[in-house]
Amino acid sequence: MAEAPAAAASVVVIDQGALMANYRALAQAAGSAETAAVVKANGYGLGLEPVATALARAGCRTFFVALPEEGTALRRLLPDANIYVLCGPAAGATAPFLAHRLSPVLNDLAQVEIWTAASVGAGAPAAALHLDTGMNRLGLGPADLARLVAQPRLLAGVAIDLVLSHLACGEVPSEPMNGRQLAAFKAAHDALKPLLGPCRASLANSGGILLGPDYAFDLVRAGIALYGADPAARSPGRFRPVAQLLGRILQVRDVDPGMSVGYGATHRVATASRLATVAIGYADGYPRSLSNRGRGFVGATAVPLVGRVSMDLTIFDVTAAPAAAPGTFMELVGPHLSVEDIAASAGTIPYEILTALGRRAHRLVVGG
Ligand SMILES: *Cc1c(COP(=O)(O)O)cnc(C)c1O
Repeated sequence: MAEAPAAAASVVVIDQGALMANYRALAQAAGSAETAAVVKANGYGLGLEPVATALARAGCRTFFVALPEEGTALRRLLPDANIYVLCGPAAGATAPFLAHRLSPVLNDLAQVEIWTAASVGAGAPAAALHLDTGMNRLGLGPADLARLVAQPRLLAGVAIDLVLSHLACGEVPSEPMNGRQLAAFKAAHDALKPLLGPCRASLANSGGILLGPDYAFDLVRAGIALYGADPAARSPGRFRPVAQLLGRILQVRDVDPGMSVGYGATHRVATASRLATVAIGYADGYPRSLSNRGRGFVGATAVPLVGRVSMDLTIFDVTAAPAAAPGTFMELVGPHLSVEDIAASAGTIPYEILTALGRRAHRLVVGG
């Protein structure tokens, strides 16, 4: 286990070497397409700086963030990167895009209009155009596309260097929706080509990359797999875990049979037991839904989470783990317990676990 600072309550350990290895593995799977990295939400919760700098060292040149402020923060770290902002520009809020050379993803005709106005004489960066191919979340739908084709002047004032769409079911290879979106994307891209000039295409997220070369086009957008979770859950060990979560044991106590534990007294110990109170709670992004069902590890010994997860504290039954002592760290995510395991116990997905974890924990960067 990595060394954590003496005062830290809980620690997220970020392995830059694993992140870089995952980038290279995805780049290899993407073949001749460029592999861009999605670093929205503070690098999926692991910290924009350690994540983005490691990816740049691994050869990544193009990054996607969700919000303009994320793009601005990334620009400070990577002066030369291509940065796309997925949510696009809001009316009256185009200044950061121009000042920091952030490429907006234009998601509807209103954003096309906003960016056209912002692009007048300003040396604006090229934008991406997002086509909805069935997810019905963001992007221009078929009616918008028909309008563009009928009125090419709508696109005359903007430079578009990327056309993209997003898969709804990319992590499920057998899902027929993938093929339908692929066909819809090709058709939409073909319809737009005469309007756009030279322009790259992008469809695949992590799951899409693993669907094979038909989905790669010119650029792929890797997210969750970079951070070590296999979106398809088909080949465990394919990606290296990037994050560990360690929680400091604050107290260890012996309790008599029949005593209850934590808020709501939802757990009662059957026999004489030792309990460890760990400095981690839902305010740290440790899900409350793990109450009475999560576990931790002391060395190689699994210890059950007992009672409710509270805001800052969680209790584990360490009767079987005599090494559990105040001041030491318990493994909450790590070699014995993957982010996927925790997500399954908590009834959620690795994305939600990772993005929540970085809120308060001390970050320790290793493997650079
Ligand atoms: C978040 C996101 C991605 C990355 O998806 P992963 O499943 O994490 O690989 C790619 N493209 C878009 C548009 C996204 O919103």
